[in-house]
Amino acid sequence: MTKGSIPEDKIDEIKRRINIVDLVSGFVILKQAGRSFIGLCPFHKEKTPSFTVSPDKQIFYCFGCGEGGNALAFVMKINGLTFPEAIRYLAKKTGVALPDRPLSRQEKEQLTLKERMLRLHALVADYYAARLTGKEGQKAQLYLQNRDIGAEAADTFQLGYSIEGWRFLRDYLEQKRVPLPLAEQSGLLVKNERGEYYDRFRGRLIFPIEDQAGQIIAFGGRILGEGEPKYLNSPESALFTKGKTLYGLSRTKEDIRKSGYAILVEGYFDLLSLWNAGVKNVVATLGTALTRDHVALLRRYTKDVAVVFDGDEAGKKALAKSLGLFIDGNLHTRAVMLPEASDPDDYVRSFGKKRFEELIEKSPPAVEYYLDTVVGNRGDFEHDRDALRESLSFITGMDNAVERNLFIKLAAERIGVDEDILKTEVIQGMEKKSNEAVLKKNENRSSSPVDALEMNFITLILEHPDKIPAMISADILKCFGSEELRNLGNVIEDYYGKFGKIDLKDFVDHLDAGFLRDEILSRLIDSGAWEGDTVDQVFSDMIHQIRRKWFKDKHRSLKIRLIKAQQASDLELCQRLLVEKGDLLKVEKAVLAKG
Ligand SMILES: [Zn+2]
Repeated sequence: MTKGSIPEDKIDEIKRRINIVDLVSGFVILKQAGRSFIGLCPFHKEKTPSFTVSPDKQIFYCFGCGEGGNALAFVMKINGLTFPEAIRYLAKKTGVALPDRPLSRQEKEQLTLKERMLRLHALVADYYAARLTGKEGQKAQLYLQNRDIGAEAADTFQLGYSIEGWRFLRDYLEQKRVPLPLAEQSGLLVKNERGEYYDRFRGRLIFPIEDQAGQIIAFGGRILGEGEPKYLNSPESALFTKGKTLYGLSRTKEDIRKSGYAILVEGYFDLLSLWNAGVKNVVATLGTALTRDHVALLRRYTKDVAVVFDGDEAGKKALAKSLGLFIDGNLHTRAVMLPEASDPDDYVRSFGKKRFEELIEKSPPAVEYYLDTVVGNRGDFEHDRDALRESLSFITGMDNAVERNLFIKLAAERIGVDEDILKTEVIQGMEKKSNEAVLKKNENRSSSPVDALEMNFITLILEHPDKIPAMISADILKCFGSEELRNLGNVIEDYYGKFGKIDLKDFVDHLDAGFLRDEILSRLIDSGAWEGDTVDQVFSDMIHQIRRKWFKDKHRSLKIRLIKAQQASDLELCQRLLVEKGDLLKVEKAVLAKG
């Protein structure tokens, strides 16, 4: 693992300061359960929480997908960061100042592409923001005023302005010695046929687009005045995937958590206007259809979503398209339909925050809205048949039986078919789905059996490192049947020898990825099985049992060799094996008597 240019003592300080529960809470809704916290896993799709965080041990583990580790591992995984990137991210969170010295050439080369792109985006966002507040930005400022966007909103979302012209940003980047091909890769500059670079965003109001961790990964720009296209985004890059990004989330996730639901809108200005009007639990898709990834991302913060659609035909179609995704993602969804020909921006500016919130409160569940306005019974056989097919795929995806039956009842009424027939079809569809799921699960099943007793022993040792000296003097590892666990025992011994203690959140970094690491994490997170006075007793019982098992295995293998020798009529070998057996019995008696 490369530590990049970050001093070791700073890394230690960050590790000491970070609290995994606070950190994870920024991404997952956690509930206390005993000594741990649980929530829905952000790394796999699940409907009941199996993602567990231990504040005592400062580690996390998911019983559903086996993802686990310490705070650093969590940040790397969830934000797709390398080690140095994750350290820098956590440094900001914990307020640990990292030396900001100019990088050597070698260090610069070591920075990953993503890291260099992130730095570039931060630099460019500052550049655009300064243009907005400067005299070049008057037109853009006026535009914001006309749309009633205040300074607080502009600051929070770090709005900017790109000057009308072909090479303002390009010249600035050259002056800052930024390699222009990097800016091209980030989509900030474009290369023409003559191989010259020019600015992508010209004469536009600029919206920095952040990932949920608050790192700028792209830009959006709205043209001021006439021109096409009205909105322009950075192209997709190593940092930015449209279908996985929700605009505003990094700034509004706390409000979403507090209010218990998210309002989903379509564009930058819808979000800005609502936020500006005091409706802050908002996120926006970036002018793209809703995706499974969007839903999964939202699901980390809330299970209730109010989706705002334009009341026109296109709006209804969009709702029909995303409904399946919401249901599959187990998100309770309300359909907020605005009066014809108005968008959230118009609405909230005309009627204010209170009316908008009332509108949300009155909004029907999206499923009902869908049945009423999209499926409906239009008396047109072909339309109804198609609508029925579509609804079936929704219904089979619904896990909640009560919701499902209600939907079937409603759908049967609306479409005018017999409820029981519909139910039968749904059940058939569900059986097909579940058979497929079982087959898939079997394919993926792989197990590496390790001895349960030895596994328990290792867990005990990790939870009670004060027993490690006793483990070493008992020389118990050589009695382990599982080579993997014996090696792990040796790693523990070495670690303890080096540091004189076991810091679990640090130790987990010393485990190789794989079955054993998962198993250890799952046991540690579920911890506290042995406490107080019982530890010593359990410890010596385990030592005793592991030894007995070792002797038992020895006896068994001797017995097999003896039988084979007898079958081969090899009397000499038989004799030798019997002596060996006698010796073994003597040793066994002595060792096991000692306890
Ligand atoms: Zn998981």
